[in-house]
Amino acid sequence: MRLKDKVAIITGAGSGIGRGACLRFAEEGAAVVAVDIVPQRVEETVALVTEAEGRAVPVVADVSKSDDVQRLFAEALSAFGSYDILINNAGILTWAPLWELEEDDWDRVMAVNVKSMFLCIKEAARYWMREKRPGKIVNTASISSEYANLGNAHYSASKGAVKMLSRAAALELAPYKINVNCVGPGGVMTNISPKLQDPATAAEGAKLVPLGRNGEPRDIANMMLFLASDDADWITGQMYLVDGGRMIGIPT
Ligand code: NAD
Repeated sequence: MRLKDKVAIITGAGSGIGRGACLRFAEEGAAVVAVDIVPQRVEETVALVTEAEGRAVPVVADVSKSDDVQRLFAEALSAFGSYDILINNAGILTWAPLWELEEDDWDRVMAVNVKSMFLCIKEAARYWMREKRPGKIVNTASISSEYANLGNAHYSASKGAVKMLSRAAALELAPYKINVNCVGPGGVMTNISPKLQDPATAAEGAKLVPLGRNGEPRDIANMMLFLASDDADWITGQMYLVDGGRMIGIPT
């Protein structure tokens, strides 16, 4: 039990990687605050954790809105009395060539993918500093933090910002024993990437991966678990790609 007696707040918990993290963290003994903007999805996640004999509570919140963020941290405290881990994972992806991208689309992607992390880091850090408690923060970046795709400049820009926000936060929060790292997933079969959900296009995607398959949420959750655990006490400000080797090169 690597997270015994720990409480973890996990955003984007209603689907994909966030749901995988809720299940994995609960398996290792954490009590989980599962946060998502879609009520039904987050209820399903909590039901799955409970079925697996874990502990979780649902919180419905839009993490890009400061009022929602303040409420979600208050609900976490009232559910479990404290928290130790923040997994900033909620994210959205849309596609458009840069010259056709709507301003609203740019703003929404930046708000959900980056501003939400600032709001949540601020709230958690203030609590840990006030209570003189250590904390662990893991932010979900992407292989798109490192390289560009045609048609999602706003997403790549947001994920590049996640990487640098994580480093800046790590530097400022290190004196308070608050570690901030990020994980950069490659192609993982979730709702955000419909192409990897369709068997025909998923097989094409897998050909780009040296280890020969697309990712599962659990692959990413395992790295989040390590970075959130005591094993990562001397690691901060880093980004770890979990991509089956995708960023090494194309294996054909
Ligand atoms: P997903 O769509 O399955 O899950 C994202 C979840 O975030 C959804 O449940 C959604 O309802 C929730 N969400 C969206 N906006 C929100 C908001 N404003 N407030 C609260 N919750 C919100 O996708 P996923 O693949 O599990 O994505 C998780 C993270 O992983 C994202 O940050 C994404 O950018 C990143 N990522 C995914 C991949 C991939 O291939 N799946 C690759 C790299 C990075």
